[in-house]
Amino acid sequence: AKDAGKGRWSLFDPVRNEEEITRYALSAAMPAAIDHGQFYLDYQPLVSLSDERILGVEALVRWRHPETGILRPDKFIGLAEETGLIVRLGGWALAEACREARRWLDLDPGAPFVSVNLAVRQVHDPGLVDEVLALLDHTGLPPGRLQLEITESALMSNSAGPVRALRTLYDRGIRIAIDDFGTGYSNLAYLRTLPVHELKIAGSFVEGLRRPYPDLATATDERILTTLVSLAHTLGLTVTAEGVETAWQAERLRAIGCDTAQGYLFGRPGPADDITARLGRPVGT
Ligand code: C2E
Ligand code: CA
Ligand code: CA
Repeated sequence: AKDAGKGRWSLFDPVRNEEEITRYALSAAMPAAIDHGQFYLDYQPLVSLSDERILGVEALVRWRHPETGILRPDKFIGLAEETGLIVRLGGWALAEACREARRWLDLDPGAPFVSVNLAVRQVHDPGLVDEVLALLDHTGLPPGRLQLEITESALMSNSAGPVRALRTLYDRGIRIAIDDFGTGYSNLAYLRTLPVHELKIAGSFVEGLRRPYPDLATATDERILTTLVSLAHTLGLTVTAEGVETAWQAERLRAIGCDTAQGYLFGRPGPADDITARLGRPVGT
């Protein structure tokens, strides 16, 4: 690389190389980090658009790394998926979220359900159903207080395993949500037969709802959202809009008939104690 001329392709791109080292160091450090309690969960409210009550909270994992500080999931979830460690990390997140939800329920019988992200690998893991059922058993969390968020890609596989597992969990009363709906390969016919309660519409659609004078693109985005919401309702599913940042967006979503909203407008992801403090109270009080 030393002698590589300007603009010439270099085998040892120092920037790329450094990225690789960081990635390697992070994935190598992950198993011990799980054991040493360096991962923790933040929780973000899922708020009813009709009465602003917190219906649920999404658990979002963070890594309190001793050298680099707090790492967001985009820095390590992909790595954990590649190495397969996501099954362990995801299992830890699932257990931790259920324990927290159980504590909220002890404080308030109307406490929110907890919504946990499942990686593709977890959905394909033959041990998933037993793991989830055992967890509910141990914590005493009612199945309706747990929601599992699955991406469309986890379900678009040739194997029947994932759908069968979800069917079992669904039949037991656990809530199933399709995450980031509309960003992947959405097979609408398939959706009709899937064991699902809720669609979570990706924030990229909500971004298109802008004030004050809707241009053509904005109007199109609003029409797409309207269509998605009515499709979901036709299928008997509820709809959560992600990435809601402005009062205008919330207002349009309410008008469209969207059920639930998640985003900075209603609350940023934060520690479990923030949710505890909001139990039994409507948003903004
Ligand atoms: P996601 O499931 O789509 O989660 C929502 C993301 O949007 C979160 O990012 C959240 O902080 C962010 N967000 C919330 N409200 C707003 C808003 O109003 N505006 C904007 N711009 N963003 C908002 P976060 O926490 O960085 O998580 C990123 C992704 O990492 C998640 O996307 C999810 O796919 C993944 N992830 C997080 N925790 C877990 C986990 O325990 N297991 C797995 N497999 N994946 C996880
Ligand atoms: Ca999610
Ligand atoms: Ca999402």
